[in-house]
Amino acid sequence: MPCAFTLDHYAELLDAARAGGYRFVYFDAPPVTGSLVLRHDVDLSLDAALRMAERENSVGASATYFLMTESVFYNLASSEGTAAVARLRELGHRVGLHAVYPNVVLDERFDPVVAWHNPDPGYMTAPIPGAVNVMEAPYFDPATYRSDSNQRWRFGCPHDELRAGAFAWLQLLTHPEIWVYPGSTMGETMRAMLDAERERRLEQLAADRVDLA
Ligand SMILES: [Zn+2]
Ligand SMILES: [Zn+2]
Repeated sequence: MPCAFTLDHYAELLDAARAGGYRFVYFDAPPVTGSLVLRHDVDLSLDAALRMAERENSVGASATYFLMTESVFYNLASSEGTAAVARLRELGHRVGLHAVYPNVVLDERFDPVVAWHNPDPGYMTAPIPGAVNVMEAPYFDPATYRSDSNQRWRFGCPHDELRAGAFAWLQLLTHPEIWVYPGSTMGETMRAMLDAERERRLEQLAADRVDLA
């Protein structure tokens, strides 16, 4: 099985997890043996998040999406952002806050769960009043955590270990943009995302009655 960063291989990962006996859970109760906590930090694209969310839903998986209110790449307060939150919930996913330190404003859009964006070690694992910090115990343990950051698995793609049931439980962090847009490196994937974004922006401009002739 080639370990490409594609939605098809992501679905294979989910299938491997099911075969390995894992159950999809959220950050609302301490993980137990067999728990698989799917975490998505949405740094760049709500479109990518929704495409991943639809795919998960189609195979009976559920995840927690961490959305930003301070992103320079998307506006969660726009009609598009509001629709994205509603659709994620419709699909059975949870929505947490992808926060920029030290700002934690948990309004009605969010469950009380926070993932810091690009955290420094100084506060990464510190408790957050009124919310779960995804990087604190018992939700985080380095031995049962895998992340696709920058399109690199530090310990390899976990599909074989999932299929074998090798983790007692796992927090799996994936970034939707990496899996939705094509590219064999992060640089290629980001350029593919920007190309798609350009098309989307042109459509938005036309919808906003801008003369593109
Ligand atoms: Zn793989
Ligand atoms: Zn982030």
